[in-house]
Amino acid sequence: MYILSVIIIIGVIIALASVLPMCFMHPLASGKVEDTDITAIKNRSNNLFFIPAGENWIVVDAGSDIKAVQSEIERLSIDAGKVLGVFLTHTDYDHVASVPLFSNATIYMSEHEKQMIDGSTYRQFIKKNKLPRGCDTDRISYQSDNQTVDLGGHRVRSIWVPGHTKGSAMYAVDEKYLFTGDAFKADKREITVHPYTMDRRQALKSIRKIQEECGKYEKAFTAHYGCL
Ligand SMILES: [Zn+2]
Repeated sequence: MYILSVIIIIGVIIALASVLPMCFMHPLASGKVEDTDITAIKNRSNNLFFIPAGENWIVVDAGSDIKAVQSEIERLSIDAGKVLGVFLTHTDYDHVASVPLFSNATIYMSEHEKQMIDGSTYRQFIKKNKLPRGCDTDRISYQSDNQTVDLGGHRVRSIWVPGHTKGSAMYAVDEKYLFTGDAFKADKREITVHPYTMDRRQALKSIRKIQEECGKYEKAFTAHYGCL
């Protein structure tokens, strides 16, 4: 009986520790982001972003609930078939779920993130990351640090910011907008380590790099804390 109580208490603590950080996340509401031509889609605790590319779209991250993403983009008259590229900041479940909707898109991610989905590196204890069913791995284009892609009239540069996961990346679009994924937590204008981070020390190093870089951009779009 005593052992069972201890197991239950530990279970409750683990459950609370994994859910509680979400209470402090504040993604943007779905729709156009103020003073930009970017459309945010709110999906549970995070955002994915649609960047217009002529008649087409470029997407950063892919949310956690494919059905909810699908209904939001239909409501906003966005055609998933016109997405040219999906730039994944990393491969945690809450950033990849709707990738199968974008069947014509190339999937971009850091070359260092490959280990997170090919089974060679565990995300946490026994947990491994994986792309959702329906993701053709032939469509993945692995990016090195600082590699640029010209797509739909935009230039997208990958910036490797390891810590949250091994291959976490940010994307600088036209050197104007920065999409930061989970590279940091933004709290009252303070930048700290995001919850669920694999390597805090590495994340802090990356945050120093981000702080040096950040001033160059008009806006930074985070996955869970809105637009800075
Ligand atoms: Zn996340």
